[in-house]
Amino acid sequence: SIIVFGSINIDLVATTSRLPVAGETLLGESFFTTPGGKGANQAVALAKLGIPTQMIGRVGNDNFGTELIKNLQISGVQTENILIDESVSSGVAVITVDNMGENHIIVIPGANGQVNQEDVKRLSDLLPTATTLLLQLEIPLTAVVAAAKAAKDLDINIILDPAPAQTNLPDELYPLIDIITPNEIEASQLVGFPVNGEETAAKAAAVLLERGVKCAVIKLGAKGVYCATAEAAFFIPAFSVHAVDTVAAGDAFNGGLAAALFHKLPLCEAVIWGAATGALSTTKPGAQSSLPDRITLEKFLTE
Ligand code: ADP
Repeated sequence: SIIVFGSINIDLVATTSRLPVAGETLLGESFFTTPGGKGANQAVALAKLGIPTQMIGRVGNDNFGTELIKNLQISGVQTENILIDESVSSGVAVITVDNMGENHIIVIPGANGQVNQEDVKRLSDLLPTATTLLLQLEIPLTAVVAAAKAAKDLDINIILDPAPAQTNLPDELYPLIDIITPNEIEASQLVGFPVNGEETAAKAAAVLLERGVKCAVIKLGAKGVYCATAEAAFFIPAFSVHAVDTVAAGDAFNGGLAAALFHKLPLCEAVIWGAATGALSTTKPGAQSSLPDRITLEKFLTE
């Protein structure tokens, strides 16, 4: 199986004709909730592609937590190793968005911020059954590093999505990573110079390889993907689609990439699966609701 060790969130979205100023009460237009969190999104991407997927993380002891776990189960993700944390709320993003698309967002890590050594212990118990571990940076960095160490000891393939963007990752993390998958912003922050296309992506990939990762896959949005290992480097242009919403394109990419590697496809084929899954996710609104299933992906790849 593939294990995703990371964040589980719910977005609470209120739409209004304009954003309120401090102290103001406004009548809004609509309200909806939608599940997210980079960890949960990547787990759903994998499960929809038919991969046996275990999610490890935390939700709070509230209605959102129950809903988030149920949602993962409906998508086919195994949830027995998600802990219900009694001490805090579930991870939430409180989002206000106006008619122009302008927004205010408050992210409360809640249970995601509590992920620690205890969760790494549950991960360690499960790792012998796994081929691959997917990590992101929406839980405490100490837990991410500990998880990577536990997986490294068992020779499990480790894919790190260094998102949200951070400037300083611990030096010891890089050599533990098989594949790092930053987008342009995340790559820029990690290497300290702007990454905005194939040429700068090649420079950034060289820096990341130098720091010890085995493979750097740099996601360049609608431009495509750059991939480099010590042996080879290649660029794959993005699939041409009618994009309506790029939310979770990066998570979709990581799901597609890991799914292909699970099927033992070669790296360059796996990057194509990632790019196709990312592209398909942009053709529908929403995060998890936009992720393609295996039949849709296979059809898209053979067209
Ligand atoms: P993130 O969502 O992390 O910012 P990107 O925007 O780079 O990541 O998207 C991830 C991948 O999804 C891209 O590398 C590309 O393969 C695919 N993708 C994203 N946007 C588009 C688009 N508009 N058209 C086609 N493919 C896209």
